[in-house]
Amino acid sequence: TQYVYRFGGGVSDGGKGDKFLLGGKGANLAEMASIGLPVPPGFTISTEMCTRYYEDGEQFPDSLREEVAKGIAHIEAVTGKKFGDASADGAGPLLVSVRSGARVSMPGMMDTVLNLGLNDATVEGLAKVSGDERFAWDSYRRFIQMYSDVVLELDHGAFEEALEIAKEDKGFTLDTEMGAADWKALVAEYKRLVEAEWGKPFPQDVHDQLWGAVGAVFGSWQSERAKVYRRLNDIPGDWGTAVNVQAMVFGNMGDTSATGVAFTRDPSTGDNAYYGEFLINAQGEDVVAGIRTPQYLTRAAREAAGAKAASMEEAMPTVYAELAAVFDRLENHYRDMQDIEFTVEAGKLWMLQTRSGKRTAKAALKIAVEMADAGLITREEAIARVDPQALDQLLHPTLDPEATRDVLTKGLPASPGAASGAAVFDADTAERWAADGKAVILLRTETSPEDIHGMHAAKGILTARGGMTSHAAVVARGMGRPCVSGAGALSIDAKAKIARVGGREVREGEIVTIDGTTGEVMAGEVATIQPELAGDFGTLMEWADAVRRLRVRANAETPLDCRTARDFGAEGVGLCRTEHMFFDAARITAVRQMILAADEAGRRVALDKLLPEQRKDFIEIFEVMAGLPVTIRLLDPPLHEFLPHEEAEFAEVAAAAGVDVETLKRRAAELHEFNPMLGHRGCRLGVTYPEIYEMQARAIFEAALDVAARSGQAPIPEVMIPLVATKRELELMKAVVDRTAQAVFAERGAKVDYLVGTMIELPRAALRAAEIAEAGEFFSFGTNDLTQTTLGVSRDDAARFLTTYVEKGIYAKDPFVSLDVEGVGELVQLAAERGRSTRPGIKLGICGEHGGDPASIAFCETVGLDYVSASPYRVPIARLAAAQAAL
Ligand code: ADP
Ligand code: MG
Ligand code: MG
Repeated sequence: TQYVYRFGGGVSDGGKGDKFLLGGKGANLAEMASIGLPVPPGFTISTEMCTRYYEDGEQFPDSLREEVAKGIAHIEAVTGKKFGDASADGAGPLLVSVRSGARVSMPGMMDTVLNLGLNDATVEGLAKVSGDERFAWDSYRRFIQMYSDVVLELDHGAFEEALEIAKEDKGFTLDTEMGAADWKALVAEYKRLVEAEWGKPFPQDVHDQLWGAVGAVFGSWQSERAKVYRRLNDIPGDWGTAVNVQAMVFGNMGDTSATGVAFTRDPSTGDNAYYGEFLINAQGEDVVAGIRTPQYLTRAAREAAGAKAASMEEAMPTVYAELAAVFDRLENHYRDMQDIEFTVEAGKLWMLQTRSGKRTAKAALKIAVEMADAGLITREEAIARVDPQALDQLLHPTLDPEATRDVLTKGLPASPGAASGAAVFDADTAERWAADGKAVILLRTETSPEDIHGMHAAKGILTARGGMTSHAAVVARGMGRPCVSGAGALSIDAKAKIARVGGREVREGEIVTIDGTTGEVMAGEVATIQPELAGDFGTLMEWADAVRRLRVRANAETPLDCRTARDFGAEGVGLCRTEHMFFDAARITAVRQMILAADEAGRRVALDKLLPEQRKDFIEIFEVMAGLPVTIRLLDPPLHEFLPHEEAEFAEVAAAAGVDVETLKRRAAELHEFNPMLGHRGCRLGVTYPEIYEMQARAIFEAALDVAARSGQAPIPEVMIPLVATKRELELMKAVVDRTAQAVFAERGAKVDYLVGTMIELPRAALRAAEIAEAGEFFSFGTNDLTQTTLGVSRDDAARFLTTYVEKGIYAKDPFVSLDVEGVGELVQLAAERGRSTRPGIKLGICGEHGGDPASIAFCETVGLDYVSASPYRVPIARLAAAQAAL
């Protein structure tokens, strides 16, 4: 097998189609080189090598050594430099970067080593050839520092401290004030540190350096932070990373050199304007790490921000023009917004990376719609480009512009959206408090990959340092967390857990609000408002609606939820749970009276009290959903869920029912169940107490007739019988509903169309679907219970072991979040087929939590269900996911 693929100098062994093999970075470096862009030459060691490396017990095969030698020879041939060459005769010593790159970008997850190839001898060569001694020694100290951190895994704090001390001794504040002799002295100090900490001198053999770095990149694939990132992003552990070895270019060679990162469009808003930052006389990592505050790329951005430091457009107009042309070229070539890294070495532009840029949901929509309108992509591609899950960011509230705000300070608007929560100063606390159900805002001077779990747990992220492309900003945008970065006036003391700004303090636990759209940071909580869903969102949704086959309904039981769902485009209600209506304080006493009644007569007295209330509920829902189908599930939960717990409650029910408290308590004890989930619930309630379902059916039909008479638009009730296992159960319950309907229609002298059907949520029901379909007019897959009963896993108790199950790969994802397609899915498929065999065209839907999960929706499309039903806020997500499933 070939493991090494070259690029640069007119050669490209790979291209953009090779992401699996070469990782995203390697594939795109090869692609850029092949379309003639200036890319420093290098080679990629494939992801297959990573897999083999782990299979072989973390060792390299001999063949790899030969291939790498050829790769180095390729770089030497193109650059004219020699790896490990100390003489200053030719073009000087070859330095390389060793970079990781997986199939999908994992920002900051994998470690990069720059300036590799420097040692005590080659540093002299570099100084002579470049004619810049300061640059040579600066590069060497950077190399030792990075290598010690990434490869030798020594404590990097000690190196930073040594640098601080060196600057203090000289009275310097900036790194740029350090001269050649200062760096040289620091190199000596660093080498001493390495030897003390590592027990061996810093490796001087450049080949040892290279293999150490290659091993470290492969090793970083199994680092804790990489694993966390993969888990949060559903990235399989067996993909592996590639390693890129590439000739160094230097942005730190003086004032005609620079380094920067850019997006071809604004990744936050989606605006079609170049967006980015750069630093003069600096090396790659400096921009991202937030060590110096970077300058804007374009003049317009600088002016908009009111910044003084010249933009790249102003400071380096020629190179900037060249770069802008590359942006356009890359965007047209990839037909997507690109995230780019570049370096300018002594006035010459070099491209170091390009990839499809991460973006907020807002930007994703805008870019997709604009690119489709411009003809760069098709509407179908536009639909496919937007991640349905990410829409979630847009569907949630933003700060009320009318609300008063106690503004503490302002930073950069790094990731949009607003969030309030308790201030915390470290990732672990953020995670712990969030697990306890607290909303937290994570405050850090700057974030690093070690903070990922805390950023994920937090509602929002606030940093004192770093730009729009800092780690915090990039990761927050990817996660959809609001983020304010670089709030420079803020000083954060993580040890003391205090943030100070303008004479004020924020302590751990105090509430703060951040607005990632404006950059404002406020004390206390600020009122929020619902977002506006017009514009690009509306356009893309229209396109999605035009291609999708699946209808989208909502799980909703209050008029407010129904209204929200309808505004979000729901085409009916797929699940209206009637039990939620019974918990209302005004009704619970009558409900309890009904449950605790000794006989049918007693139950009917209580049910008579509930009827008008229940009818009112349905009237409100039918009004909002006029003209649309509404699936109403008759009473489902075990009755004991409604029972009184406290003495006073028993007394209240006793008074209402006219019995004594002791009798009631005895009756309550009788209702106790060992396993209520499999107990007296669902249609079993209707079978034993038909009068309950009768009352509910009456409320439904009376309400439907009322609304039809008043509005002229009849709702279409679909009466759903829960937890059916046999045809006979459904027949009995359908008879109750039909009889009640006929009675109500006769009394009123009017009728409405309606259906009676069942949930398929027990394996037996799925298996016997053919005969059950003879009795029922529709099926709705209740995949929450169907998952519980098929897997034999209680949803309420699963948390304790399910994470381990997912970690060990027993289930790919939490089966309650994303449908277990192989198991539960097979039952769904089989029930759909068997149901259709006896009732062709039987209406089929899904109303479990899975109805709002894109992967599960894709499955529903393959089975040919008629609709999915999701919670109101997930309706737009489901509409888009359904469209993607249909493409
Ligand atoms: P990440 O994936 O974390 O961005 P990269 O491998 O892209 O890591 O590298 C980190 C930084 O080093 C980037 O700013 C990149 O542009 C810079 N860099 C990487 N290789 C080179 C090189 N050969 N010459 C100059 N700068 C480089
Ligand atoms: Mg990079
Ligand atoms: Mg159920």
